Amino acid sequence: MIRTAVIGLGTMGTGMVATLARAGMAVSAYDVSADQRANALPAISAANQVLNALGMPDKGGDVAPRIVDSLADCVADADLVIENVPEKLDLKVEVLHQIDALVSGSCVLASDTSGIPITKLQADVSAPGRVIGMHWSNPPHIIPIIEVVAGAQTSPETVSWMVETVTGLNMLPVLVKKDVPGFVENRILYAIMREAVDLVEKGVIDAESLDTCVSWGIGYKLAVVGPMALLDMAGLDIYQAVGSYLNEDLCARKDVSALIAEKTGRGDLGMKTGGGMFDYTPEQVGELRAARAKKLVAVRRALET
Ligand code: NAD
Repeated sequence: MIRTAVIGLGTMGTGMVATLARAGMAVSAYDVSADQRANALPAISAANQVLNALGMPDKGGDVAPRIVDSLADCVADADLVIENVPEKLDLKVEVLHQIDALVSGSCVLASDTSGIPITKLQADVSAPGRVIGMHWSNPPHIIPIIEVVAGAQTSPETVSWMVETVTGLNMLPVLVKKDVPGFVENRILYAIMREAVDLVEKGVIDAESLDTCVSWGIGYKLAVVGPMALLDMAGLDIYQAVGSYLNEDLCARKDVSALIAEKTGRGDLGMKTGGGMFDYTPEQVGELRAARAKKLVAVRRALET
């Protein structure tokens, strides 16, 4: 049985814990915040309800994940530690350094970073060959891919072990062959986001209609036909013809748009603050999360047939 420790129980941590425990791993989890630790078990239980709806086999039996109140207790005897703390390079380097001093020489140190190159996270650990990117997608218990990313010093054995481990979770490992910022998923997502925000900011379309256009157009299609296969479906000649006049007109800004910067400056961060691109009451946030999980489960089940 693989003993896994999850460090950080925020947006990503609890769904991750549920997935790992469900696959039969012994899981312990820690967050520096007592509030987050207190909220963890109900959130893990909610994620488990979704995993039930997905028909995920439960290999965990009666062994419940342990939420502990010290990092040392959490990582003691771990075979795998997944760091899941906020996306700040200095914090991640420091947390990995602390974990490194507490674990055995064979423990794999994985990071769920959204796109910090793994090579930068290997800087301050004693055995950089055991450090690897394990990038889950949100919500982690529903979206089946995990990007596996080697840094410059990650050993081939660590990469093979991680690919096998992700497969054992009933997830799809996607091997990223170069340690580029944002890896693959977020490079593509952020290319879409840059253009989407630009179109709204320029008044080409309103925010609600943009979401309708993407979700019921390319979003719906891409879930079935990936971009490379879509090139063949549409015809490379069409891509050549459209790309030759359109590519130069697409948004290419290097900074983050003023529309986003103004909202973040005001503290309008989205669902977590009640307002961002749209406004939400606390009741709507709960309803939306439940409705989205239900739809994602239905779509995943349809795609798996
Ligand atoms: P979050 O802010 O929701 O949660 C982070 C948690 O880490 C918090 O609960 C915080 O209390 C805790 N924490 C902070 N310092 C800590 C420390 N020293 N020790 C233990 N716990 C500590 O963040 P998140 O959205 O869950 O993101 C976590 C990581 O996952 C980030 O690297 C992020 O880029 C990545 N990620 C996020 C998403 C997403 O959609 N949110 C998707 C994929 C990957």
